[in-house]
Amino acid sequence: MSNQPTFQMNAWDILRENALQIVMYVLGAILSGLAWPPLAILYLAYSLLSNVLYMAWVCPYCGHYSLGTCPAGFHILSARRFKPKPGGTFSREFRRNVAVMVPGWFLPPIVGVYLLLTGFSWGLLALLVVFCVVAFWWLPESSKKHCEGCETVDCPRRPKPIKL
Ligand code: SF4
Repeated sequence: MSNQPTFQMNAWDILRENALQIVMYVLGAILSGLAWPPLAILYLAYSLLSNVLYMAWVCPYCGHYSLGTCPAGFHILSARRFKPKPGGTFSREFRRNVAVMVPGWFLPPIVGVYLLLTGFSWGLLALLVVFCVVAFWWLPESSKKHCEGCETVDCPRRPKPIKL
């Protein structure tokens, strides 16, 4: 993540910075809906909820949140209404709560494999491959540029050496 000030972000900036994640959720909803149409709605609702919970449980411990420099604009989306609890650290809260995001990444591939096993089609396989490329390669690659220059030393995703 960048530590450049982003408090001048507008709605378009936020949309652009979160575009890949939105694409992943849309692909995930399509895959889920192929198994059971209401699952697409449930998947999207859970994805929205999980991001709000992440803002509430993890973001308040990140320096970018209080400084208003979150590259994803989560400080704007949440209006910085979430506050850290005393004694919490980013590392601890991230490890404790990151699981809330897991279903958004892993439900669609599980559903996709199930659908392939029960009724193979090349279109379905292509959809599953595109989802996996976006979720497990493109998104992590793109988040690397956000991590460059981040000063959060106790980040479990990309630990940094402590400068003495
Ligand atoms: S950089 Fe990540 S942890 Fe920090 S406020 Fe933004 S989304 Fe939350």
